Amino acid sequence: NRHGDLHWARATTSAVAAILKNPAYAGAFVYGRTRLRKPLDGRSPTKAPKPIEQWRIIVKDRYPAYIAWQSYEKIRDIISDNRAEYMRNKTRGAPREGELLLQGIAWCGRCGHKMYARYKRRAEYVCNHLRSHQGLPACQYIRAPRVDAAVAQAFLTALAPAEIDALSCARRAQQQTYKAIRSNAEQQLERRRYEAALAERQFNRV
Ligand SMILES: [Zn+2]
Repeated sequence: NRHGDLHWARATTSAVAAILKNPAYAGAFVYGRTRLRKPLDGRSPTKAPKPIEQWRIIVKDRYPAYIAWQSYEKIRDIISDNRAEYMRNKTRGAPREGELLLQGIAWCGRCGHKMYARYKRRAEYVCNHLRSHQGLPACQYIRAPRVDAAVAQAFLTALAPAEIDALSCARRAQQQTYKAIRSNAEQQLERRRYEAALAERQFNRV
């Protein structure tokens, strides 16, 4: 792309997040939003965001603004609040489509972050948090079928006693219903016998 060309791209989470966090949309020229972080294992350095107080240069009203600077700061606050909320609750989040069992409720055993389900070539759980938020290498990928099979097995094992309970509970309820129907029928029979006896006496008297 040449400078100034319009470039259409898919609205991925990271693209939208990048736009929301980009001060240029509030008309500001900013320099020094990130620092380079050198991984210990000798890989090439990655960019990590710096807090807004540590940005080196901020020149407001430099570009035509889409949003006011106050709105920009408000949006930043909301995003960081959302993140804090997420870290506090580690909520399940909105249920999404997909066949994996642990979608939205799998947590990484290594770094403790939420894993997401990916259906790219094969189904897998991915811990991408450190990469997408801190520019570190992705933490781990786990193939889903074996995990899901183990979860299903554990679920059924846990369910078995409950299932037996539910069955005996249903039996009891059924027996009570039968009892009620039976005693109702018996009462009716009793009444009919009485009516018959009465009719017999009346007939004989006549
Ligand atoms: Zn992880």
